[in-house]
Amino acid sequence: MPGMHYDIVIVGGGAGGLELAARLGRKLGRRSGKERVLLIDRSSFHIWKPSLHEVAAGTLDVHQEGLSYSILGRSNHFSFLLGDLDSFDPVAKRLTLKPIVGEGGKVLVDERGVTFTWGVLAIGSGSNLFGTPGAEQAHLLERTEDAEAFHTRLLAAFMKASFSPEKTMSVAIVGGGATGVELSAELIEAHRELLDSIGGEQRFRLDIAIVEAAPRILGGLPEKISDQATVALERKGVRVHTGAKVVAVHADRLETSLGEVPADLIVWAAGVKAAATNADYGLETNRTNQFVVNDRLETSAPDVWALGDCAGAPWKDGQLIPARAQAAHQQASYLAKTLIARLGQRRVETPFVYRDFGSLVSLGENKGVGALMGGLGGPNFFVEGLIAKWAYTSLHLDHHRAILGTPKTVVLALARLLQQRVAGRLKLH
Ligand SMILES: Cc1cc2nc3c(=O)[nH]c(=O)nc-3n(C[C@H](O)[C@H](O)[C@H](O)COP(=O)(O)OP(=O)(O)OC[C@H]3O[C@@H](n4cnc5c(N)ncnc54)[C@H](O)[C@@H]3O)c2cc1C
Repeated sequence: MPGMHYDIVIVGGGAGGLELAARLGRKLGRRSGKERVLLIDRSSFHIWKPSLHEVAAGTLDVHQEGLSYSILGRSNHFSFLLGDLDSFDPVAKRLTLKPIVGEGGKVLVDERGVTFTWGVLAIGSGSNLFGTPGAEQAHLLERTEDAEAFHTRLLAAFMKASFSPEKTMSVAIVGGGATGVELSAELIEAHRELLDSIGGEQRFRLDIAIVEAAPRILGGLPEKISDQATVALERKGVRVHTGAKVVAVHADRLETSLGEVPADLIVWAAGVKAAATNADYGLETNRTNQFVVNDRLETSAPDVWALGDCAGAPWKDGQLIPARAQAAHQQASYLAKTLIARLGQRRVETPFVYRDFGSLVSLGENKGVGALMGGLGGPNFFVEGLIAKWAYTSLHLDHHRAILGTPKTVVLALARLLQQRVAGRLKLH
């Protein structure tokens, strides 16, 4: 089968890859963008990954939140191809996509080959299970399907607890990073919303435990923020076990260095690791399977770049740029400039510099904590409450603005607000 050829092929339409495709498509314009830029993703619709804990808790509906890549391609002038990366050859500048298989294993679309002049890998990362026995039984929050599967189990567990004599259900979250903390806060919201809509005799208690191996939760953030978040979570009834290393995961409990934590549902939200298959693509990779890139986001092969979580890019003091949506967002802007300059036979002289604007953690409706970095060596600001929550929400809006433009983002935000007013915040189906 003759393959397709594009000047620029981006694999992975997440926080970084989709913004890059939109920027390039819009810059190249209605006529040539679609002919020159191809975005490939294994999903047909886009969900901003930092929202996955809300999908898991049911406070965000993927069927409303998901944005179709094909429609985004139409308005941003790039082409879209559905497919899961199978092979990538940086020398031949060719990649293949796995066949698309339907019900009963029937092949709907055969393997496809695409050649490119410039290739960009933006395929994100997954969880690091640190070789913990039984950890594969826990729920993960890597993909939309994972979050939806957890939500289905959560609703079933809610139902069971409603009619059980104990009137309790328990969730154990491994990892006290931003994902674990935000998930616990979102689960409390979901439970509260549910209690508001059911009769008194069906009400039950939700017991949430966060298990963290380090001495404090939110270890990557200043201690003041960890303390604030711990107090806020404990006030909501979350049990925070720090210094507790998970040694094994069982179907109904965690075995930790400090004892057992029984749980109806277990979520693994600790550690980030890129796909092991990244090592098969003929590019240099690091310990966590990221593609090694230089300060221009160039991989070990000419004309191939990587960005976002799948790229191990140098930062300060020998560290790598952290796996964050704000890093992927900044790298997408940089790479768009680089590639547009290359199309005009120019070169962007400056290397990529990551600007850490701080981190914000959502603690549920109208509450957040975080630190915003001061610019030009000025002081850092601690933010909390409603301001932190607004700043947190604005990160998501920034992403939507990059792919939809401001007017559509405003309409979408309003539509979602109205939808929540009419249908309620919690998805119970
Ligand atoms: C629950 C949760 C909360 C988070 N909260 C925050 C936060 O508050 N702030 C923050 O800065 N960061 C946050 N993060 C981290 C943030 O989501 C990531 O750093 C960011 O999404 C990375 O962007 P990316 O483009 O590299 O990858 P992703 O956004 O993960 O996108 C990767 C894309 O590649 C596609 N893909 C993967 N493999 C293949 C393949 N083989 N073939 C084809 N397509 C493929 C995927 O479908 C996906 O669309 C959070 C993460 C999680 C899980």
